[in-house]
Amino acid sequence: MNIATWVERNAKRLPDRPAHAVGDTVTATWGEFAGRVSRLAAGLRSQWGLAPGDRVAIVMSNCPEYLEAQFAIWYAGLVAVPVNARLHREEIAYILDHSGTSLVITDAEHAETVAPLVDVVAGVQEVVVAPGADWDELCAVEPTPDVLTATPRDSADPAWLFYTSGTTGRPKGATLTHGNLLMASLSYFADIGPVTAYDSVLHAAPLSHGSGLYGLPHVAKGAVSVFPRSGALDGAELLDLLARWPGMSFFAAPIMVRRLSLDPALAGAGVDGMAGLKTIIYGGAPMYLPDLEHALGVFGPRLAQIYGQGETPMTITALSLADHADREHPDWRVRLQSVGTPRTDVEVRVVGADGGDLPAGEPGEILVRGPVVMAGYWRQPEATEETLRGGWLHTGDVGSFDAAGYLTLHDRSKDLIISGGMNIYPREVEEALMTHPGVQAVAVVGRPDPEWGESVVAFVVPRDEAPSEADLDATCLARIARFKRPKEYRFVPSLPTNNYGKVLKRELRQQFSDSPDRP
Ligand code: AMP
Repeated sequence: MNIATWVERNAKRLPDRPAHAVGDTVTATWGEFAGRVSRLAAGLRSQWGLAPGDRVAIVMSNCPEYLEAQFAIWYAGLVAVPVNARLHREEIAYILDHSGTSLVITDAEHAETVAPLVDVVAGVQEVVVAPGADWDELCAVEPTPDVLTATPRDSADPAWLFYTSGTTGRPKGATLTHGNLLMASLSYFADIGPVTAYDSVLHAAPLSHGSGLYGLPHVAKGAVSVFPRSGALDGAELLDLLARWPGMSFFAAPIMVRRLSLDPALAGAGVDGMAGLKTIIYGGAPMYLPDLEHALGVFGPRLAQIYGQGETPMTITALSLADHADREHPDWRVRLQSVGTPRTDVEVRVVGADGGDLPAGEPGEILVRGPVVMAGYWRQPEATEETLRGGWLHTGDVGSFDAAGYLTLHDRSKDLIISGGMNIYPREVEEALMTHPGVQAVAVVGRPDPEWGESVVAFVVPRDEAPSEADLDATCLARIARFKRPKEYRFVPSLPTNNYGKVLKRELRQQFSDSPDRP
């Protein structure tokens, strides 16, 4: 089925209930939202001559128009390419080109970066800015007979190309089908909790990632999508929103949960202040035990953790609300340090180097199989074959089960750095730094950081004279997003390598293991 069908159904069942809101103000009812979605779908098809299966990218900050774009794309049978709006122009250009995007929808904030790409990326016909005159024009197109209802889609048809940065330095597009997104939503109901039309979902994190995926089960059930007016959430704003939109759930990276839980505005909120809060779903990066215990004190037992990947959208394991609340259990604290148990709709294995299953307690690579796992990487058959070999998604994450079936993550074998909830692949930063003529060799690793989770450190072997840090920063900023730039440079005469000449990043990281700021 086409998941945009949910919008049509809500328009019939709940025409006057709010579909989305900014702060305390309703910006559209389900009746209005569905009308705009079908007219936009007509506009996308007729104005731009797009046909089902064509790709349309969204490069925007969170706003109601983001949801309009996303659902209009699906309604018209097109494929959405939600791009992290904080990426560098070059990175965005690569994704547009690789995905074969025909049309880009952006907002005023990103138009300056995105608009010139029409001349750079051959396939892109136009960049439309929303909200704005172009958007209103598209919205004014009367639905043609082919878009009077959502375009029929098979569960195997692509819906969302989820670009994740690969270890090769180039992002890969996990092809998520309508069937994958449906399973991810059903699995939310099974393992996180039910949703009703009287609930709300707060978009406090980017819609191009976790928040977009968690929005789906809420759209399915007719809950209202709420956008914080500030664009960035603080404690006082959260309390106001909880009072206005009770039954609220939201996704947040661990660093954001930590920040909110330390906000003095929430310290005295007590049971009444939090009454409107249903669930904070956190995940995407490690949550440290002291932070989690503190957050449970502030928010009450309203936290659930998920472990997932773009390749199996938000769905590998979950540590349920009940697990968080079960303080009497002798393993309560141990379990809080795990990522929970396998989701209802997937099989999860931990295997050794020979591919055989490992017993409880032994760490190995985490493998996943089930209907939520991506169809493959867009236009990358070799990477798909490698990652989905034997019918199992090879996550690249290392973990171990305990005897009761709780999974603990040990390391990320792909050397991914997660800083402030954002994924940074060292290779991308290394490739940027290697373009500086003064750099002979470089290795980038994550350093434990109590504020950011991890921070980026570059070990640089200079050619003759060490380049200045300002110079290296400028080299990075010309090629990659600001948040990926190293926070620290260490100049070294050589890098530790093994017999095959591979850099031993473990040894570099060990230099931090005794450092006082390890969380
Ligand atoms: P992404 O595809 O961008 O969502 O990144 C997925 C990666 O984030 C996973 O492969 C893990 O390495 C990491 N990750 C996801 N969830 C968790 C979690 N709950 N705890 C620790 N790391 C996580």
